[in-house]
Amino acid sequence: MILELALKTGGVLVLAAVLARLCYRASAAVRHLIWLSALAGLLIMPVAGRLASWDLRVLPADGVSVDRVVGGAGSGPASRESEPCCSLTKPSAVQPNWSPEDLLRRVWLLGVLVCLARMGAGLWRVRRLAVDSVELEPPVRRSLAAKPRTAIAFGIWKPVVLLPSESIDWSASRRQMVVLHELAHLRRHDFVSNLIAELACAIYWFNPLVWLGARAMRAEAESAADDSVLGNGIRASDYASELLRMAAEIGKLPGRPALSGASSMIQNRIESRLERILSSSARRRGLTLLPTLGLCIGMLAFTAIVAGARLAAQESASQTSAAPTLSGQGSADRKGGVG
Ligand SMILES: [Zn+2]
Repeated sequence: MILELALKTGGVLVLAAVLARLCYRASAAVRHLIWLSALAGLLIMPVAGRLASWDLRVLPADGVSVDRVVGGAGSGPASRESEPCCSLTKPSAVQPNWSPEDLLRRVWLLGVLVCLARMGAGLWRVRRLAVDSVELEPPVRRSLAAKPRTAIAFGIWKPVVLLPSESIDWSASRRQMVVLHELAHLRRHDFVSNLIAELACAIYWFNPLVWLGARAMRAEAESAADDSVLGNGIRASDYASELLRMAAEIGKLPGRPALSGASSMIQNRIESRLERILSSSARRRGLTLLPTLGLCIGMLAFTAIVAGARLAAQESASQTSAAPTLSGQGSADRKGGVG
């Protein structure tokens, strides 16, 4: 089941990668939306998958899980009739007999919990940073602590742009650029986008394509915020120079600004960002309503079709397996490993 889910999610992400590649002349906001729609679409897949597994589980459950449930209390009614008290006298019979699929499910769940814990810890750290800060001009605040190293934008109901404590020594132009960049993240709701991407990574932690998709989405968000800064009349050469200077300064600082769910102005893909900032042919327009709706609906519909195809395939598989189950042969073959 996990392998199948990995293939299906991979299909959605490959489509997103192809679309993003085809839209290389479009604005970064469009490519960001492609990745975001794909990652959001992945979040509905478990729902469809769960519905499918209900069907899959119910049918074999007559043959297999009845065995397991009854067997858990006293494995095999026929053999237990001669030993009515065996479930009390042989506690070892209660030991779970995990199938490889059960084991995989548990490993998957453990991975999800670890990712969610990491995400929750990151969000908690970000909230704590906002407490130890001073308000400048809403929603801009300046940290009074050693962290963060770079400006970050976060929050849904009460969004905040948090500048590092060093920003007190910044020039007016640098501060203007940084604030414009982070305000663009807030306007674009990139914090929510990042949460969606992190949730998708948590659920599909076993699929490296999901992590790569989330990374590509975040890179496009940075470029879209850069476009917004340039749209405010900042010269591309000035902005690129400032970005490069800040990247050099951050590189000299100990530690990295690893804040879950937050956006930072300085990130790893600095070269491609600078190249794009200085490009005179790059399109920097934001999103318009109709193409945005069309893209979101199209991507979500494709994801639903993929999930639906999974349902149909499993239903037909379960139907074919139902006949021998009723005849009493299929279930015996299927649980051959159980004994
Ligand atoms: Zn940014």
